[in-house]
Amino acid sequence: MRLALALLLLAAVPAWAGGPVPVAATSTDLQSLIESVGGELVRVVSLAPAVHEPHQVEVKPGQLAELRAAALLVRVGLDHEPWLARILQAVNDPRFAPGSPDVVDCSKGIPLLQAETARVRSERGVHVHGFGNTHYWLDPENARPITASILDALARLRPAERARFEANRERFLTDLESRLARWTRAMAPYRGTRAVVVHETWPYFARRFGLVITAALEPSPGVPPSPSHLASTIQHMKAGGVGLLIAGPESDAALVDRVAAQGGARAVVLVPSVGGDPAARDYLSLFDVNIRRLTEVLATAR
Ligand SMILES: [Zn+2]
Repeated sequence: MRLALALLLLAAVPAWAGGPVPVAATSTDLQSLIESVGGELVRVVSLAPAVHEPHQVEVKPGQLAELRAAALLVRVGLDHEPWLARILQAVNDPRFAPGSPDVVDCSKGIPLLQAETARVRSERGVHVHGFGNTHYWLDPENARPITASILDALARLRPAERARFEANRERFLTDLESRLARWTRAMAPYRGTRAVVVHETWPYFARRFGLVITAALEPSPGVPPSPSHLASTIQHMKAGGVGLLIAGPESDAALVDRVAAQGGARAVVLVPSVGGDPAARDYLSLFDVNIRRLTEVLATAR
């Protein structure tokens, strides 16, 4: 009888009780933000690597085990992670069903850009940016609502530690504020610089730091450019005084260099996610790296 009772109690206690809360995030950026709030009270894995094609992640068997072991799944949400559906289907755990409190959708409470031009495309199986642009973590001010969602979820699992999570978040936001002032000062001379992007990764970042994005090499998010779209974009760059072509670490470097040269622009590779450059080791240093890369290129373009 006593043994049965003990087993019953054990079953009610999660495997991670007493240790750090295991969390699965869908990006290295969310991983870093969860670590900023959770500190040593969390153990976070990212299901996506630091560098990958936008919205495309190859699902590996180890990721299923990581998700099964997690107490929380933290995601970008909207249609940012089309690859996640396959993992969720394989894991088939009601804890991660839509609407479950164990799934944190960080897009809640974020004012989306490009929502007015929302479209859902089915060509080549691509369904991205259908509700608005999903790359909202690249405005550092959006770290406020994102970390607020994370804090609520962690405090629900560990109510006794709420004050610690809050103190960690406050420390992170104070650091963010002082760095944001520095980044804004560094970018001030370049406000209004017109830029073309490869994928529409950068509208939130551009709005925050005063860049004006006028076109994308991808005719629709996730769709590679045709030769005629490339030619018209190069024409647009030449005619429109576009000084900058923003690519990602996953972009085709030869194509980027060719388009920049023909369009009369400077090319810069910006890092959309933590770990995409060894110096971008956490969420705040991701912006340190990108602001440094941008200002270096823009300074020589003058
Ligand atoms: Zn995208």
